[in-house]
Amino acid sequence: MEPLGWVDEELARLERSDLLRTLPPPLRAAGATVRLDGRSIVNFSSNDYLGLASDERLIAAAAQACQDQGVGRGASPLVSGRAESHDYLERRLAAFFRTEAALLFPTSFAANAGIISALVEQGDAIYGDAKNHASIIDGCRLARAERHIYPHRDVAVLEQLLREGKHYRRRLIVTDSLFSMDGDLAPLLQIAALAEQYQAMLMVDEAHAIGVFGEHGRGVVEHLAAADPLLESRVHIRVGTFAKSLGSAGGFVCTSAALVKWLSNRARTYVFSTAQPAAVGAAGAVALDIVDAEPERRILLLEKAARLRCRLHERGWDTGTSASQIVPLRIGSPARTMQLSQRLRERGFWAPGIRPPSVPDHDSLIRLGITAAHTDEMLDSLVEALDEAREPA
Ligand SMILES: *Cc1c(COP(=O)(O)O)cnc(C)c1O
Repeated sequence: MEPLGWVDEELARLERSDLLRTLPPPLRAAGATVRLDGRSIVNFSSNDYLGLASDERLIAAAAQACQDQGVGRGASPLVSGRAESHDYLERRLAAFFRTEAALLFPTSFAANAGIISALVEQGDAIYGDAKNHASIIDGCRLARAERHIYPHRDVAVLEQLLREGKHYRRRLIVTDSLFSMDGDLAPLLQIAALAEQYQAMLMVDEAHAIGVFGEHGRGVVEHLAAADPLLESRVHIRVGTFAKSLGSAGGFVCTSAALVKWLSNRARTYVFSTAQPAAVGAAGAVALDIVDAEPERRILLLEKAARLRCRLHERGWDTGTSASQIVPLRIGSPARTMQLSQRLRERGFWAPGIRPPSVPDHDSLIRLGITAAHTDEMLDSLVEALDEAREPA
């Protein structure tokens, strides 16, 4: 057989299980409406939660940075690739999150992969939520520490695992703050208390929550700190991305100055990857300014999402434990999920079906990403289209 002959067989196997994914056509820009199949369609497939991906102010800042600092950086940050905009953005991030220091990564996937494997190694232990993002899971795999997975949001099992694992040298608890498919929040108050009790490091990934949750947009940690002001200092490591609500690209970590120094020495995805274009740093700083100056974006967004969930419940849709702008419609089988997604698309709504391996088997869902740019009319007509597209009972 041809060396690559197995690929066709594997693809056919995916297709038979309704799990084959195909790339959608390229889009001009992210937005609440996009052009697809030759017409305008309402887009619920994006994580551009604050509607900043095409914001004129980000575009202007990025264009100016290209003019002033060029496009490519030519080297990793440790060598010579760090731009003025990166230096500024790291200080801006640390001030925004009120941590000693911050460090930019090429993406937040790279941040998770590099950070976790720089924190723990053989003889250490990691404790992670079963629904953590793939980048966290891959970071755990790279780390060679022992991995303990607790059921989604189950602090009782986490505590039991921590109690049984006192012999490890270092211990790390790592969790998404806002889960990317279920749209629910990690029980961070309880997790932080356990981290303190068992002297574990606590790392929280705020990828979907930055700019959306918290009075100042710092995320779920800030949101939950309303009940316990100590929470923010109890989360030792905060990871995030500029690629979702902040409208551009790139990952980051906010933590102690010492740990930033360690990561810039030891996180392989930092050390061995070329620095981001300066334009990305410039756009990121403007996005943080907007999060500071325009809190109404996040307030209205969460109100809108709550109203939508309410209306969906009235009509019998199951949105699981969602409490955010990520609203899943739990369907179950991949085939039925994709059929519903297709029917919505025919009616002018792009709502992607999510199948394994992004979700567990039998947990396929339609994922609705609500953004500040969605109007009430768009959400109303989505609810109607869902009624029409629903399978006859
Ligand atoms: C999207 C996501 C990432 C990856 O972010 P990128 O910057 O796009 O690589 C990491 N963690 C979580 C929880 C995410 O949802």
